[in-house]
Amino acid sequence: MSKIDWIKEEIAALQEAGLYTNIRTLGSAQGAWLDVDGKRVLNFCSNNYLGLANHPKIAEAAKKAIDEYGVGPGAVRTIAGTMDLHTKLEERLAEFKKVEAVLTFQSGFNANTATIPALVGKGDVIFSDRLNHASIIDGCRLSGAKIKAYEHSNAESLEEMLKEHLPQYNRGLVVTDGVFSMDGDVAPLDELYEVTKKYDVLFMVDDAHGEGVLGTGGRGIVDHFGLHGKVDVEIGTMSKAFGVVGGIVAGKKVIIDWLKQRGRPFLFSSAMTVPDAAACLAAVDLLEESTELVDKLWSNAEYFKAEMEKLGFDTGKSETPITPVMLGEASLAQEFSKALYEAGVFGTAIAFPTVPRGTARIRVMISAAHEREDLDKGLEIFAKVGKDLGVI
Ligand SMILES: *Cc1c(COP(=O)(O)O)cnc(C)c1O
Repeated sequence: MSKIDWIKEEIAALQEAGLYTNIRTLGSAQGAWLDVDGKRVLNFCSNNYLGLANHPKIAEAAKKAIDEYGVGPGAVRTIAGTMDLHTKLEERLAEFKKVEAVLTFQSGFNANTATIPALVGKGDVIFSDRLNHASIIDGCRLSGAKIKAYEHSNAESLEEMLKEHLPQYNRGLVVTDGVFSMDGDVAPLDELYEVTKKYDVLFMVDDAHGEGVLGTGGRGIVDHFGLHGKVDVEIGTMSKAFGVVGGIVAGKKVIIDWLKQRGRPFLFSSAMTVPDAAACLAAVDLLEESTELVDKLWSNAEYFKAEMEKLGFDTGKSETPITPVMLGEASLAQEFSKALYEAGVFGTAIAFPTVPRGTARIRVMISAAHEREDLDKGLEIFAKVGKDLGVI
């Protein structure tokens, strides 16, 4: 037996169960249509909600910044200094989101693993929605605080847990996803806030799928619920609707100041690159200029969902442009995804461990980059594959 044989066995078992992820190779820029493994297909996979990943103004801003500042940030910001570009982005984001201050990270994942352990630790307790994103879960684990999972989007369950457990710990943190990425449902932030304000706990929301999607002109879930100043920490990402890459922590200035002292991915990992920061700044400009893209995203999503339901597909309980097409078994979802690709649609199967066993799906991501004829083409192909495989 070699010491890596167990890995080979695990991989074979995943393949057997239809749970092995095969990664497709893209030969073109993000957009409504993609070159995937050498074939031109309709893109229903990316989180590029507003079509900004290949927007000419954003690409131009990145190129210009490279001419002026080069590419790399040099080192971590606390040692090599911080570029004015990063500071400017943080100020612009704070205005956009109407918060006291913002700190950017290399990714949304890092923003969570930086923030949670900086706010709670051993002897403290975290109340976490049962379906929270992996990066929240990892942040919670890294913190060393006790983790109590409350029932999904259930303010009553949260309150019961707060009553029972909070008194036994020093400090508490309540954390929830804003939009749950696999089902597209929105956390009842107003109800959760009403509960948290009765207790001495910090309240944090991860708005990765709400940034650029929910609220006025894409200002996010806090804006959607009108809870400005009431949520202590907002996490966000610039890799989804903003079309670039990078994480956001937005909230009270004292928390941002603290993260600059104690957020480990901030202290021990270099900043996002120059073209990233410049591209994000251009994305904020575009969002502030007009709500056109956000409006188009929503009208596209509403059209597609309604037509899929008419065809007889189960699209779950999404309240956002995320459109899960529920299939059940992982093997069926993989077969469905393959047939879609053959017919000209890129829609990846999502199964355990990303979603619970038996709830495998194709998650369709509608964007503002799609035109009505693209959506109609997609609907036609979904109808054909759905009938061929006996799903509808
Ligand atoms: C996508 C996502 C992240 C990670 O964001 P990245 O910037 O891609 O690292 C974090 N939290 C949630 C809820 C997400 O959906």
